[in-house]
Amino acid sequence: MQYRVLGRTGLKVSALGFGTMRFKMVDGHVDRDIAIEALHRAMDLGVNYFDSAVGYCDSQSEMTLGKALKGRREGKVISTKYPPWGRSLTADDCRQIIEQSLSRLDIDCIDIYHMHGMDWETFQKVNVKGAAMEAARKAKEEGLVKHLAFSFHDDPQRMIDIVEAAPDLDVVTCQYNLLDRRNEKSMEVVHDLGLGVVVMGPLAGGRLGFPSERLQGVLPGKSMSSPDLALRFVLTNPNVSVALSGMNTAQMVDENAATASLDAQLTEEEMRRVAAMLEENRKLSELYCTGCEYCMPCPNNVNIPEVFRLMNLHRVWGLTDAARERYAELGSADPLGDASACVECGQCEEKCPQKIPIIEQLKESHRALAREKS
Ligand code: SF4
Ligand code: SF4
Repeated sequence: MQYRVLGRTGLKVSALGFGTMRFKMVDGHVDRDIAIEALHRAMDLGVNYFDSAVGYCDSQSEMTLGKALKGRREGKVISTKYPPWGRSLTADDCRQIIEQSLSRLDIDCIDIYHMHGMDWETFQKVNVKGAAMEAARKAKEEGLVKHLAFSFHDDPQRMIDIVEAAPDLDVVTCQYNLLDRRNEKSMEVVHDLGLGVVVMGPLAGGRLGFPSERLQGVLPGKSMSSPDLALRFVLTNPNVSVALSGMNTAQMVDENAATASLDAQLTEEEMRRVAAMLEENRKLSELYCTGCEYCMPCPNNVNIPEVFRLMNLHRVWGLTDAARERYAELGSADPLGDASACVECGQCEEKCPQKIPIIEQLKESHRALAREKS
């Protein structure tokens, strides 16, 4: 296993982190045997960063991790989070949540304590007198928490704003992967300010877990699956300390741990090839649809930008299986529908600044992505 320093925390952490949000569920319960086997395999292979949160796996993630830590706590870096959604955000509330997390994890101290899912607006609410950050800071003084952190979902500049507003934050956890590099510059800035950077979603929520001839062909002579390439890409960024992977079986741990081994990084020449491919794909994607959403709403509830984003996954990235799987959710798991709901009223085409022949492209997308459905 490759180890890196987690910014100014000084903690030596495994490049591969275990995200505990994807344990197998059976009848509403975590399958504890499978989960603990995976966690123990990770520990045996040198993974020492474990990331949980109150709500993960129907609120059973912390307790499952706690069970796996019995007798194995030493040397592990444990992260969990304060959930801001639907709560008072007061210091008292946060104190209660910290105590409950300590109890469920069955540990004396949380190494990395996050404010979960922060955007600028929410961070301003938790970072005032009498609010959640006050309790997190007090817990740090008392030794119940070692380092303060935030997980981030907002415009990239806001990551820097949050760090400047609270210089005692030591770690940020943020999205970063081959398909979404928006945070790259901000990650560099906060890393230079001394923060440890943890990446969530290195496989783009599973989309890069699917095979893609286009991705696999980017490094000729090197046999690399798309998840392998995706994880290596993230770990090659010198500003990244940990790439979190939501693992749920010992086999998945074996595969990811092999990638995060010492020779995981891409060479300069390989990175140049990958960067060229990314730039070319970005341009190609924008040629079709920039995702601006000016065409929305559609009176018939067609999710036009999402259909075209999936079409790009298919024709630009070669991630056809991933695109089809997500397309099948439109109109069911997702309330906005797929291209088949279009009645060709033409309203959207008048609003599209790219002058995309939306009606024709929707038909083409449906043919490509819904073959098995139609
Ligand atoms: S043409 Fe089709 S997609 Fe566009 S607004 Fe009308 S129904 Fe919606
Ligand atoms: S307006 Fe055009 S470019 Fe923008 S999301 Fe809709 S189809 Fe794409």
